[in-house]
Amino acid sequence: MPKGVLVIAETRDGELRSVTAEAISAGRWLADGKGEECSVLLAGSGIADHAGGLGVYGADTVYLADHEALGVYSGELWLEAAAEAIAAADPSIILIAATSTGKDLAPRIAARLGAGYAASCTGLSLEEGTVEATRPVYAGKIVEKVRLSTAVGVISMRPKSFEVDDSRSTSPAIEQIDTAWATDAKGVSAGPVEAAEGARVDLTEADRIVSGGRGMGGPENWGLLEEIAGLLGAELGASRAAVDAGWRPHSEQVGQTGKVVTPGLYVACGISGAMQHLAGMGRSKVIVAINKDSDAPIFQVADYGVIGNVMEVLPALAEELRKLEA
Ligand SMILES: Cc1cc2nc3c(=O)[nH]c(=O)nc-3n(C[C@H](O)[C@H](O)[C@H](O)COP(=O)(O)OP(=O)(O)OC[C@H]3O[C@@H](n4cnc5c(N)ncnc54)[C@H](O)[C@@H]3O)c2cc1C
Repeated sequence: MPKGVLVIAETRDGELRSVTAEAISAGRWLADGKGEECSVLLAGSGIADHAGGLGVYGADTVYLADHEALGVYSGELWLEAAAEAIAAADPSIILIAATSTGKDLAPRIAARLGAGYAASCTGLSLEEGTVEATRPVYAGKIVEKVRLSTAVGVISMRPKSFEVDDSRSTSPAIEQIDTAWATDAKGVSAGPVEAAEGARVDLTEADRIVSGGRGMGGPENWGLLEEIAGLLGAELGASRAAVDAGWRPHSEQVGQTGKVVTPGLYVACGISGAMQHLAGMGRSKVIVAINKDSDAPIFQVADYGVIGNVMEVLPALAEELRKLEA
């Protein structure tokens, strides 16, 4: 009988990604609620040193799949690593972050196991021992609650949906996964991951984002946003209109067909707030909107709004922020 929670950790270039801490914290919380164990699959290359440290998030067992071929995510190879960990842990819930890696791997695992799959969830609860996941659908217009009726369920969680709890102090048992199959895997190789130019952290993990839309007038005005982003320690985002116009790369697009972000602070500059944009940033904790049209829909979701021309408001904002820095 499957039992317990298995979290699939995310690594890149030998480092843990921050979503891993969130996913294990969520897994620990669920496991505690069910009175069961929380185990973690730690796959990658040169990642063994991180295994013991996962005890701060409450991992009971870490299944370690350390192999050069797992250093860059490949669906085929990571699926094999996951299958090995699942065979060993026999979990009833498999939890993974809904990053680009997780969105690729989670359905592969679900298909392999014939398991139910709740994708891109933003909340978890336990109802009489049964896991209930919350997930926004129809571009965030509706929030549905999903219960998985299969013996094993796969759940992917949107980044920044679950608070990190690093107050635990378990000493996880470390189980090595035999990765001989990774050496033999012919015809499967994944190239290096190239970071988007100028980006410091992945937008989905950013705590502050300054975004521009068509109202910025053109790419030549992005220096204003870069200055604010620099002063706030924020990443740059964009609306689809700005991306489609060729002003910004698609990696910066926020929204239904771009990235779904949940920063602590989202500053929308010259962005109307179309439904498809809100689908990507509507769950930001604090939203600041700068728009010259007081009827722009972005003001309906904004915590703070400035009705004005970005060409005047942004330099004034930069000046005030510089004063705070001095
Ligand atoms: C299937 C589908 C998927 C989509 N996916 C996405 C997505 O992922 N992300 C996304 O963003 N959009 C998406 N869209 C497009 C979306 O519907 C909007 O067209 C887009 O978000 C508009 O971008 P915008 O707000 O920058 O431009 P506009 O709607 O043109 O708004 C510009 C805003 O700037 C203001 N403005 C103009 N000049 C100034 C100034 N000088 N100072 C201050 N304010 C000014 C205007 O008042 C206006 O509110 C999608 C659409 C479809 C159909």
